[in-house]
Amino acid sequence: MIYKEFQNIKVSGLGMGNMRLPAVEPGVPGSPIDYVKAHEIIDNALANGINYFDTAYVYTGSEECLGACMTKHDRDSFYLASKFHIGSNPDYEAVFAESLRRLQTDHIDFYLLHCLLDNNIDTYLESGAIPYFEQKKEEGKITYLGFSSHASTDVLRRYADARKWDFAQIQLNYYDWVYGTAKEEYEILTERNIPIVVMEPVRGGRLSSLTPEAEAVLKAAHPDWSISSWALRFVKSLPNVKVILSGMSSMEQITDNLNTFSVEDGLNEEDMAILMKACELFRSSMVVPCTGCRYCTEGCPVQINIPEYLKVYNAYKVNGQHELNAAKNIESEGTPADCIGCGACEAACPQSIKIPDLMAEMAELLK
Ligand code: SF4
Ligand code: SF4
Repeated sequence: MIYKEFQNIKVSGLGMGNMRLPAVEPGVPGSPIDYVKAHEIIDNALANGINYFDTAYVYTGSEECLGACMTKHDRDSFYLASKFHIGSNPDYEAVFAESLRRLQTDHIDFYLLHCLLDNNIDTYLESGAIPYFEQKKEEGKITYLGFSSHASTDVLRRYADARKWDFAQIQLNYYDWVYGTAKEEYEILTERNIPIVVMEPVRGGRLSSLTPEAEAVLKAAHPDWSISSWALRFVKSLPNVKVILSGMSSMEQITDNLNTFSVEDGLNEEDMAILMKACELFRSSMVVPCTGCRYCTEGCPVQINIPEYLKVYNAYKVNGQHELNAAKNIESEGTPADCIGCGACEAACPQSIKIPDLMAEMAELLK
């Protein structure tokens, strides 16, 4: 296992996320955690050098399961990370006390204000939670205080400047680096000397299996590297990243991840170029190359705001079903369901996008 210097300690480059521990009945909503399987995975992670274990007050059953497992181990052999989420329960004193109780510990090593968003920054800043946790830090009940963010870069900047944070956790992977804001977020934190813990290094699993064309490019370069390991290697090449969280829910996943973190071998320049090529292929096969020029809209007899619907379509392809909700807010006279398939839009589109087919697909998706 590779270790990174963090203040005066060493944290394992690979951290274990405990949000999706194995369930007694996998796939059945509300099924409790399978303690036997979960403890086997946690014990194995610890035995193989992972010393950073991430959980949160809001991950159902996770703190209790992790806490119960860790009572078997020397408290100085691992670091616990947990989080306070203001939207779920604003009573920070009660939440923190409950987390200590569930984790069966007298201190939490890494404590985070959970899931900073554009619409909760003021609530967090005005709540009194930060001074309270600073006091807990002085009392030795929290060792390092940080936050996790899904906010825009402007809000991240504001929060990063709110105090001297010990660390921050952000979503970072090669896809979001190229097509999202991950690179800017990394720079905002690095400029302020805030070490980074990474979540979603394989983008919720989406980067563990790409399209056949994209995978062929990666396999040709390194046949023995798994597709997920490319994503982990990318993140581990970034110097300000200390811990990379992976939600390991099976022994196979642990073994693959441990291999990736057994040596300090990020991507060299050539590998990086190969990965960027695969990333481009992956994206182009998934999303529609609409430039937003709007040449298509003028001749549409039912006045569908085509580029805005295509934007939602692309987000849906990349991020999943929940992105379709944004279609409700599109300002448009007609909807995809009104499309009569006349083809005027396609004839006007410089990108030759098959708009009528996509409108039919969107109409189905939005039913
Ligand atoms: S095919 Fe559909 S979206 Fe395109 S111009 Fe005709 S009605 Fe509008
Ligand atoms: S003409 Fe084509 S590229 Fe331009 S906005 Fe319409 S769909 Fe997008």
